[in-house]
Amino acid sequence: MILRFAKSGFYSVVVLGTAMGFAAAAAAEEYLSGIQWQRPPVVDPGKTDDAPPSDAVVLFDGTNLDAWKNGENWEVRDGVAYSGKGQIVSKEVFGDCQVHIEWSAPLPVKGSGQGRGNSGVFLMGRYEIQVLDSYDNETYYDGQAGAIYKQTPPQVNAMRKPGQWNTYDIIWTAPRFAEDGSLESPAYITALHNGVVILNHFQLKGDTPYNRPPEYRQHAAEGPLALQDHGNPVRFRNIWVRPLKPAQGEQQRPPYIRDGDKETPVE
Ligand code: MG
Repeated sequence: MILRFAKSGFYSVVVLGTAMGFAAAAAAEEYLSGIQWQRPPVVDPGKTDDAPPSDAVVLFDGTNLDAWKNGENWEVRDGVAYSGKGQIVSKEVFGDCQVHIEWSAPLPVKGSGQGRGNSGVFLMGRYEIQVLDSYDNETYYDGQAGAIYKQTPPQVNAMRKPGQWNTYDIIWTAPRFAEDGSLESPAYITALHNGVVILNHFQLKGDTPYNRPPEYRQHAAEGPLALQDHGNPVRFRNIWVRPLKPAQGEQQRPPYIRDGDKETPVE
């Protein structure tokens, strides 16, 4: 294997080739995008698997629910929040974001179907990814844990047993609306349940109510995270959100191929 580093200004290119002889030829010409990228911010991913990254907005670290409206009506005990009376709604609002949340279905197991360990994570206060005890508990599939409620089941059921902790890691793309209220682009969600992909860039059909079809209704560019009260004492811990924004850069010139002193624009 041949490693070749070619550094020029803001560009750093690594060409990896086999020892077949084409590496030198491939290195003679270099494609340059003409974009001057900003240095990506450094983020400390956290010392342990369960620690929030350094740039996360921590919504619950086990101490209190001060970051939430109606938090006083949920109980916090031993570092864990118990779903209580009424939904809780984050005071901070988010657009595109990454969400990490851990939850555990109640023990002893009570009820069945939608009545067992039901809660939900609502992106922007209106798009629900279902929280439910779906361990050995059949219900309609687009209503089980990890479903976008009434829109799609999760691709797989990666549920842990009641009493054990589940994680959701969610990548959310907010919908965009035009000024006249029409939908410019829909919402998308990618989600991992206990590290397993359950939703892969799923395009939402709209919101997720129980009693009517999904639809998009214009709302603000950012909205809160909300956790549902469905009458079951589902437990939550370690909740954080990272607002997402694309890498920053400026097109300084059109893209081109550089070969020694020769520069050829890319059509
Ligand atoms: Mg629910």
